[in-house]
Amino acid sequence: MNGFMDLHGKTAIVTGAGRGIGRAICILLSRLGASVVVNYSGNGAEADKTLAMCGSAIKFRADVSDEDECRRLFEKCEASFGAPQILVNNAGITRDGLLMRMSSDDFDRVLDVNLKGAFNCVKLASKSMMRARYGRIVNISSVVASSGNAGQINYVASKAGLLGLTRAAAAELAARGITVNSVAPGFIETDMTASLTDGTREAMSARIPQGRFGTPEDVAGAVAFLCSDAAGYITGQTLGVNGGMYM
Ligand code: NAD
Repeated sequence: MNGFMDLHGKTAIVTGAGRGIGRAICILLSRLGASVVVNYSGNGAEADKTLAMCGSAIKFRADVSDEDECRRLFEKCEASFGAPQILVNNAGITRDGLLMRMSSDDFDRVLDVNLKGAFNCVKLASKSMMRARYGRIVNISSVVASSGNAGQINYVASKAGLLGLTRAAAAELAARGITVNSVAPGFIETDMTASLTDGTREAMSARIPQGRFGTPEDVAGAVAFLCSDAAGYITGQTLGVNGGMYM
């Protein structure tokens, strides 16, 4: 038993969970007792690695920006484990570029995956959660939603949009026992940040009071807390996981 953080009997859908932060979230939710649906978009072999590190779990390929594929993801969950009590909207992409050079396609694609994808999944999850009068939804935003960041106008807009989506959904679903919160990671060691040069990495670390990048496990801990009964009276909030770089 894991006490307040016990997730036995719960089912979780985690989007974009083939690797990185999503994988760490699946592993922790599974360790706390949840059955997990590992959503991925492209790399089935990586999703298999996530599965191998979880207990009761299945994988399912779906592009979260596509409503029909999301519907199939939820149908697969329902058929395998029953309707989900937990949804973690983690899938996210970057297509960075300075404002003057950013194409409409790059703007739209990032909004479609990062923001519309979360909308698609929240809408599907809320149906069964409202019936059950219970649910936990966590949206993975970013520190840049609040701080801004040059060269990421599409990504920052999508992540700030997620904070608004979180608050609106929280207000709408609160009376049905459903909490909706955001986790806003700072700089985390994953494939998304792997391409940074040593110079950039040092400059970024210097801006973090704790003096280091975070780990996917640092983020997973915050997500698991918000998914647990310990966080039952917390809704519409943003929990920063950033080593103090933004307060
Ligand atoms: P990552 O690139 O390793 O993981 C993102 C995952 O989303 C990948 O597995 C990818 O395949 C999946 N994905 C992409 N498009 C998808 C789609 N259309 N449908 C379903 N899945 C899709 O990066 P990560 O660092 O693990 O990021 C996870 C989340 O955390 C993202 O939302 C990211 O924006 C956010 N985040 C990351 C950092 C960081 O420093 N790494 C900081 C703040 C926020």
